[in-house]
Amino acid sequence: MATGVVRQTATGQVFGAAPKVSELSAKAQRLGLETRGDVEAEFLRAKAGWSKGTAYHCPFCDREFWSPSGARKHMKTQGHPVLRWDWY
Ligand SMILES: [Zn+2]
Repeated sequence: MATGVVRQTATGQVFGAAPKVSELSAKAQRLGLETRGDVEAEFLRAKAGWSKGTAYHCPFCDREFWSPSGARKHMKTQGHPVLRWDWY
């Protein structure tokens, strides 16, 4: 059930500040994403068919979503760009 290591710096860096070291999920890093800017660029690239997806992933929380409504809600409440994962 555990999806892996939760990435957190020793100083307990709070999300929101521009990260110097990647704090994205391992899944996202495998795609070559390292910063919030990378994720936002990727989000825009995949935006066209975004709502037709069947799998979504939040690189900041390392969480999966199986419907666009769940993903959209997360974006709204957390302010995270959630990527459409079946895109890849
Ligand atoms: Zn999130």
